[in-house]
This record gives sequence, structure tokens and C-alpha cells, in this order.
Amino acid sequence: MPAIILSIGDELVSGLTVNTNATWLSGQLSAIGISTVRHVTVGDDQNAIAAAIRETCGQCPLVLISGGLGPTLDDVTREALADALGTYLVEDAAALAQLEAFFQRIHRPMAPSNRRQAQRPQTGRCMPNSCGTAPGIFVSTSSTDIFVVPGVPSEMQAMFTESILPRLGQHSKDMVTRTYRLNTFGIGESVLGQRIADLMVRGANPSIGTTVHEGVVSVRIYARGSAAQANAMVEEARGKIIHRLGQVIFSEQEQTLEDALAVLLNKYGSTIAVAESCTGGLLAQMLTSIPGSSSYFQRGWVTYSNRSKIEDLGVPPELLQTPGAVSEPVAMAMAQGALRRAGSQWALSITGIAGPEGGTDEKPVGLVYIGLAGPEGTIVRRNVFTGDRGGIRRRSAQMAMTILRLHLQGLDPDTVLA
Ligand code: ATP
Ligand code: MG
Repeated sequence: MPAIILSIGDELVSGLTVNTNATWLSGQLSAIGISTVRHVTVGDDQNAIAAAIRETCGQCPLVLISGGLGPTLDDVTREALADALGTYLVEDAAALAQLEAFFQRIHRPMAPSNRRQAQRPQTGRCMPNSCGTAPGIFVSTSSTDIFVVPGVPSEMQAMFTESILPRLGQHSKDMVTRTYRLNTFGIGESVLGQRIADLMVRGANPSIGTTVHEGVVSVRIYARGSAAQANAMVEEARGKIIHRLGQVIFSEQEQTLEDALAVLLNKYGSTIAVAESCTGGLLAQMLTSIPGSSSYFQRGWVTYSNRSKIEDLGVPPELLQTPGAVSEPVAMAMAQGALRRAGSQWALSITGIAGPEGGTDEKPVGLVYIGLAGPEGTIVRRNVFTGDRGGIRRRSAQMAMTILRLHLQGLDPDTVLA
């Protein structure tokens, strides 16, 4: 179920007060599976508030309104709500009794202006305020449930928890939200989004969206319904996404790229060595972060200098002059040297410019060559990554693992990542 949060107050629209109520309420709704689709903020103007209530109620089955329930003349949410509903205000006897009891407790006379706070639209009901004066209001129209709470954050929160949550809980009783994640690496979020654009309809159930974390673009499915319905929706959406994105997906749920590669290397009983320049050992670190990686990881070289590339990997010195250390032939020689010297089945190499300095027109920052030597020969992929030094280094290692993953699955990286 979607919700709209309508916040009221001149101090909010003028920028004097940060609208923490809307943030808090959205978080609470989200926790019970209700997604907020709009935040609307209006100043203390009766006509503007009435118009906003009419508009939001026409759009959404649940509208939460905060603010403007106080005793002063600038608090006009009550009147605006009655206007919007086409009804009038009546005095709520129970609410008036609670107000009088509140003032008795604090040994202060109740000002006549406070009496206004016991008013509610004729078709509505009052919700008690356990830590302040203004009661809340609940109105259920044919299309929309409207809850109005005070603006003071502590009062708003108490009322939401005590009076609103139990009512919303009934809406969402026996309903569950299932989430599922498919992880990709190697094509950008926008390209990926285009391929599944028609599946990413806003407000749909299941809803499908993308998130990016450290270069990994994940497609997330959120399905809401009974447990059986939600599971079936996830399964159907998952099938569609796999069909569209195919082998760009390296794993599902929490599995990382290095986890997924470990599964494949173990499955085929393969062994691997790495020769790294600009990643400085990051690839070896990622591969060996997996418990049990000793079954496939044989050795790694961090060959940062030209001399180490020559001495440790047997890269021909003339290649380091022209075309230079960051080049396809050097990536190829590094991978082949590592394969030969480690005696492994596969060897990955990485040479590139992580920046921020050192780029030229011909070889820009982010240019990274990744080599893979294996039983059928050696391939090199040219990449240009964006981002800061850390990001370029991480993407380089992730791409190296992706190239090997695809090879182990019998796929061509240039086709899959096109
Ligand atoms: P009161 O009875 O205190 O007047 P009210 O319902 O009229 O309650 P407002 O006058 O709108 O509430 O706001 C009271 C105070 O609560 C404001 O001065 C402001 O500090 C805070 N407040 C109101 N709305 C918000 C909001 N959306 N986010 C954060 N703080 C808010
Ligand atoms: Mg007020």
C-alpha cells in the first residue's frame, strides 16, 4: 500500500526547521511494508492545506498529516481538513475531557483557545495525545484513511506508535515483504536499467529497482503479499530478470564476486595465479579473502616496477619501452609469465593507470589492461574505468575476477559485457 506524508508548517517551508517528521514516518511505514510515494509540505495556510489534502487523498489510500493542531490561530489543519472533506467541526466530548484532565494534572487553567483542540471534523474521530495537548484525528473516507498528528516530534511519535500503528498493522496483517537481489558486474546501471525498464514500474507489486555498491549493480525485487504470494512473485520476477540480463548476473542474494568465483574454481578443480601492477595485491587479497581459497590460489606477484615485471615475470624489456608498461602486450606477457612460473591452470594480470596523476591523452587515468592466460591461450581486455584511485583499483580487480568467471562458464567477456 502506498502512502503520502503531508507536513504542515511555515517553519518547514521557510527552511527554519528540518522536516524530520516526514523522514521518521516514512521509516516507520517502510518497516511494515508501506511505501511512501510522496512528501508534500505546505505552510500554515488554510486554503493551501485544504487543497493539499484534497489532492493527496485523490491519489493515495493512506495520507499521514503532521502539524498545525496547536491552540494558536496559525494552527489551521483542523479547519482545513473539515473544508477538504466538505464537512464541519464538532466538539469531541471525550477529547475535551482529556484536555481538561491534562490541565488539571499540570495545575494550570485551560485557556479558551485550547478548547479548539477538542474539535474534529464531524465524520472523524479523535486519537488521544499521551504527551501533549492536541488530540490527533482519524478520518476514513471511501478512498482514503487520513491520520492527523501534532507537529511536535515527541507527540507525533507517541501517537503514531500508540494509535496509528495498530490500525495500519491490521491492514498489513498476514502480509509479508520478500526481498531478493541479483548481482551484476561489468555493465553500467543505466544500460542495465534500459534492459529491464518495463519491469521497473513505480509502485508496482512486485517492485523492481537497481542499486549500486562498490561497482556491483544489484537488481532488487520487493514483493508483498501472503508468504506464498510473495514467494511466487519473487520467483516470477527473478525468472524474467535472469532471462533479460543473463550472464551479466554473477550471483544472487548476498554472494560476492569472490564467493561466486570460488564456487566455480572449486567446481572445476582449477588453480590460479595473479600478477598485479596498479592493484598492488588487491586481487590476491580479494581471492584469498575466501576461507579455503588455498585449494585454488597458488601465488601472486605485485610487480609495480618495470624491473620486477622483467625479473619476476619475464616480461621482455623492450615491451616496457614501447608500447610501455600499460599496454596490451605487457598485460599478455605478465599473464603468461605468471602462468609459466606458477604452473597454475589460469593466471590473471592487471596493468593500468589508477591516477589521479599520470594520465595522458593516449593513456588516460582509468585505462587498465587485464590479461587472462589459460589452457587455450591468452586474452587481454582493455578497460577504461571511472572514479577515484580506490574505485579504479577495485573495479580492475572485480573485472579480472569477472573475466575469469565468464571463461570458466565458457562465455566470451566481450559478448556478455557488450
Ligand atoms: P502544538 O500544539 O505544539 O502547536 P502543532 O500540531 O500545532 O502542535 P506545529 O505548531 O506545527 O505543531 O509544530 C510544533 C513544533 O514542532 C514546531 O515548532 C517544530 O519545532 C516542530 N515540528 C513541527 N513539524 C515538524 C516536522 N515536520 N519535523 C520536525 N519538527 C516539526
Ligand atoms: Mg502549533
